[in-house]
Amino acid sequence: MDTSPPEPKLSALYQELILDHYRRPRNKGTLEHPTYAVSLNNPLCGDEIDLQLLVEDAVIRDVRFVGRGCSISQASASMMTHLLKEKSVPQALTLAGRMSAMMQGDDAAAKDKALGDLRALAGVAKFPVRIKCALLPWNALTDAFKSRA
Ligand code: ZN
Repeated sequence: MDTSPPEPKLSALYQELILDHYRRPRNKGTLEHPTYAVSLNNPLCGDEIDLQLLVEDAVIRDVRFVGRGCSISQASASMMTHLLKEKSVPQALTLAGRMSAMMQGDDAAAKDKALGDLRALAGVAKFPVRIKCALLPWNALTDAFKSRA
């Protein structure tokens, strides 16, 4: 029996954007002096993410990640890090909320330009098993800020 999660059927254009981030991840690597570092995994799919943030004056100056796993989790991490640079911590948490709403099938969130390339992942909402993949880097982000709050 094949127990691997089903591959979401996404539009070709979105599929291409996701694969582009997966193959050429933005902000991959580690920071020399991160203010926040969180490691999370998604045992359902085997996805792993180490997220590091450099925050100064409540603004995300830099963000990097190292990860392994499916295209959805790694593309989400790449898209997220791209979006987070120079955002304030409250802005980042607002984006995490929008992302979570989009994964719950919220149409308004799926059309929110603030989410940038991440809107390509809107179709994942139809695949409950994969939602955890898409939200893994975001959960790492909210965990990071929670741990110091
Ligand atoms: Zn996954």
